[in-house]
Amino acid sequence: MNHDKIILSVATTGSWPTKVQNPALPVTPEEIAQAAVESWREGAAVVHVHVRDEAGKMSCDLSRFMRVRELIRGQGCDILINFSTSGGAGRVGEEERFNSLAAGPELASLDAGSMNFNDRIFLNPPDFLEELARRMLAAHVKPEIEVFDSGMIGNALALQQKGLLPLPLWWQFVLGVKGGTPATARSLLHLVDSLPAGSLWSVCAVGGRQLSMNVLAIAMGGHARTGLEDNLYYRRGELARSNAQLVARLTRIARECGREPATPAEAREMLGLAQTGI
Ligand code: ZN
Repeated sequence: MNHDKIILSVATTGSWPTKVQNPALPVTPEEIAQAAVESWREGAAVVHVHVRDEAGKMSCDLSRFMRVRELIRGQGCDILINFSTSGGAGRVGEEERFNSLAAGPELASLDAGSMNFNDRIFLNPPDFLEELARRMLAAHVKPEIEVFDSGMIGNALALQQKGLLPLPLWWQFVLGVKGGTPATARSLLHLVDSLPAGSLWSVCAVGGRQLSMNVLAIAMGGHARTGLEDNLYYRRGELARSNAQLVARLTRIARECGREPATPAEAREMLGLAQTGI
C-alpha cells in the first residue's frame, strides 16, 4: 500500500447552502450524481452526499439517496459513496436519520457528539450514537467519524471500546463551524495528536478556511475534503463554478507535494473496505 496517497473527498451539497447563494450547487439527484462523477474524474475518491426534497430543502428520503447511488453507478463511476446521517442538525428526528443506511452506501457520517451548531442545537446523545453505530455495523456501512471539537474523539473511542467501530478508524475533522473547534493549525495539531495509532484522518473547514486547512492536511500526511457543502467560493469574491473545480485544484496541489490522489479502489484498501464491482 502506498501511504503517500491522499484520499480526496467531495461534499457536494450539504443541508443548508442554496442555489441563490451559488447557482452551481447540485440539488436534484441528477445534479448531485453529475457533480460526483465530475469530481471523481478530477481525483475525488469519496463523495459525501446529502439529498434535498422537491423544494430544495434538506431531506432524509430513502428513495432520493437510492436514486443518487443508482445514477452514479449507472455512469460506471466507482467513487466511494458516503451518505450523511446528520438530518440537517436537528431538522428531523432520530429515526429518519437512519434512512440513508438502507440505500447501500459504503460509508456514512457519524457525528460524534452534541454541540451548538451556528444558531441550532445539533443533538447526538450517547444512546443515539450507539444505536447509529450498531445499525452501521449491521448494514456493513463504515462510519466516517465527524469531529467538530476534541471531546467528540473520546465519544467515538467509547463506541470503539464497545466493539462498534471497525478498524481502521476513519475521522473527518470538520473545522470552523460556529460552536465548534476553530479552523487553525494549532487546533488541527491537537486533534491529530489525540487520535489513537492506526487512525486515518481527513480535514474539511467551512468558508474561507477550506483551502488552507486542506493544504495543511496535505502537508501533514492526512486526507482532505472539499466541496460546496463547506464553501461556496473558489477564492474571496469569486464563486466556485462547480464541485469538480474545487477538487481539481486540490489534486493539483497534492501532486505538487508528491501526494497522488488515491483511486476509489486504493481508498477502499486503505479504509479496509471490500472492493465493489459496479
Ligand atoms: Zn455533510
